[in-house]
Amino acid sequence: MKSRRPLVAANWKMNGTRAENARWLEAFLDAPPACDTVVCAPYVFLLQVAQGLSGLDAQAGAQDCSDRAPGAWTGEVCAEMLLDTGVRWAIVGHSERRATFGDSDELVAAKAARALSVGVRPIVCVGETLEQREAGRTNEVVAAQLAAVLRTCSAAQLATGALAYEPVWAIGTGRTASPAQAQEVHAAIRAQLAAADAQAAGQVRLLYGGSVKPGNAAELFSQPDIDGGLIGGASLVVRDFLAICGAAN
Ligand code: PEP
Repeated sequence: MKSRRPLVAANWKMNGTRAENARWLEAFLDAPPACDTVVCAPYVFLLQVAQGLSGLDAQAGAQDCSDRAPGAWTGEVCAEMLLDTGVRWAIVGHSERRATFGDSDELVAAKAARALSVGVRPIVCVGETLEQREAGRTNEVVAAQLAAVLRTCSAAQLATGALAYEPVWAIGTGRTASPAQAQEVHAAIRAQLAAADAQAAGQVRLLYGGSVKPGNAAELFSQPDIDGGLIGGASLVVRDFLAICGAAN
C-alpha cells in the first residue's frame, strides 16, 4: 500500500471549445473521481475549468508557465496570473515544448522555480527520445533533466508539485512503456531525489505519461513508484479519463 495519494492529470493540449469543455465538465461533475485530479487546459479556457471544478478535489492546471515576472513580455502568461485565475498547477517541460518550442533544461528549471515562488505547483516532465533509449541513454538523459531542476528548486519544493516521466516515444503514439520499463525509470528518479532529500523523495508523486488508456492504466499505476498519470489523448474523452482515474484508486 502506497502512502502517497494518487494523482491523475489531464493534458488537453491545444484542444477544446467552450461548448465541448462544458460538456466534459458536466460529465466529470456527475461522477467525480476519488483521486486527486488536475485538468490542464489551454490558457483561454482556464477560468472556465477552474470555476467548473470548484468545490471538488480536482483543480485546474496550465500547460506551461512563464519564467518571467509580470511585465513587458508579449504573449507570455506568468504564475501570478494563473493564481489569480484560480489555477494551482502548471505543467513545465512537456516534451512537445522541449522539442518544438525550444524549452531547454535550464528554461524548464527556471519555469518550475518561478511557479513555485508564487505558489503554483509544477508538474515537471522528463523523458527520453526513442533514439536516446535505443542508445542506452535513458537514465542519463532523465537524470540530467532532473538535475537541472534540482539546481533551481529543492526536492522539498518539487514534492509540493509532481514529476512526470514521459518517454517521448510513447506520447501520442499508442506505444506505452511496459510497467517494468516505467517502474525502472521512476525508481531512478526517486533515488536521485532521495540523494538530495530522502523525506521529500518519499512524498513526491511521480506520474507516468505516454499513451495511458483505460486498458493499461491499472497495471502501470500498480508499480511501486508510479503514483498516477499524466494523460494526453485519452483525457479528451471524459469517460476514458474517469476510467483511468478509477484505475489510480
Ligand atoms: C502527454 O501529452 O502528456 C501525453 C502523455 O499524451 P498521450 O497520453 O496522448 O500519450
